[in-house]
Amino acid sequence: MICAGVHVSVAGGVAGAIDRALERGCCSFQVFTSSPRAWKRGEVETPDDELFVAGREKHGLGPVVAHTIYLMNLATIDAELLEKSIDALVFCLRRAARLKIDYVVTHLGHRKVETEEERVLSRTQVAASLTAASNLFMATPEASISTPTILLENDSGHAGGTGGTPQAVAHMAKLYTGELPIGICLDTCHIHAAGYDLSTDAGRERLIGEFEDEIGLSAIKVIHCNDSKGESGSHLDRHEHIGRGTIGSDGIGKLANHPYLSTIPWILETPGELSDDKRNLEAVRSLCKNQ
Ligand SMILES: [Zn+2]
Ligand SMILES: [Zn+2]
Repeated sequence: MICAGVHVSVAGGVAGAIDRALERGCCSFQVFTSSPRAWKRGEVETPDDELFVAGREKHGLGPVVAHTIYLMNLATIDAELLEKSIDALVFCLRRAARLKIDYVVTHLGHRKVETEEERVLSRTQVAASLTAASNLFMATPEASISTPTILLENDSGHAGGTGGTPQAVAHMAKLYTGELPIGICLDTCHIHAAGYDLSTDAGRERLIGEFEDEIGLSAIKVIHCNDSKGESGSHLDRHEHIGRGTIGSDGIGKLANHPYLSTIPWILETPGELSDDKRNLEAVRSLCKNQ
């Protein structure tokens, strides 16, 4: 059985995430460490932190994932935005370390590119920004508490995006030279939208084969399990309930039973509220043969 969970809210204090994860029957779960659509954020240390760590341990939850804010763009050519983006990543890493969170998933960013050379430059900057964030984090007090692994999340292959293929994500991971460990978060909706049709054997085999060739499947540490509203190749980042999108139950089920992918945490970022989360989790678990 895979260790599945959902993204849960931290409204009212981070310890509330534990209750929400338990209420939904999560094994693993994901949180934001600050509001995803705002630069403004709280303190690096909150009164709730110890409750969160203790609660997680008491209930044997995890691995736990933190997600960076959506405003970040590590590929931007705007120097001020780049600095703010690196700073936001460092803040998320510091919060994660305090909360003993295992993984920090981050989007990689985008910029206008026309040539292959420009594309490579863009990826090089993303990797340098991740390295800079790691170095800045290592100089903070939180580095002596714990060291989260940074996970690069693939995008939907939209124009200017830096992470639309296994090659692109692997390239950035290999250029990174920071001290914090690095890995990949594979989002099923994004990769399907990017043109790897997960509803077919051919699409899934191409995806797995390319990851094996570029960096090894073991670089993938977390799955973002989302069905897709858009067709494969649409480049639309629109998450759908499990089994109701263009990937479908069969496609997701085949991945959920993959010998390696079934051993890592699966986080759902599907729409809706408590009842939807429970139903989507149940849908994913019911697809696992060894449940
Ligand atoms: Zn994401
Ligand atoms: Zn998405």
